[in-house]
Amino acid sequence: MAVQQNKVSKSRRNNRRAHDALTAANPNECPSCGELKRPHHVCPSCGHYADREVVASANEVDLDEDAA
Ligand SMILES: [Zn+2]
Repeated sequence: MAVQQNKVSKSRRNNRRAHDALTAANPNECPSCGELKRPHHVCPSCGHYADREVVASANEVDLDEDAA
């Protein structure tokens, strides 16, 4: 087992951890549906990106087409 050579003081430990904070997400409002979405990502609720639909949304696709 590796053993540290010197004890890290509370000050040095806390100074190291001063840079460990996570930054909060910065969501944008989707221009087509108004939901909050990640910037530069396809909207997960309506599938739009830059005012056009790039991913068909689940309620518009008919999945039961050849079920019967
Ligand atoms: Zn949207």
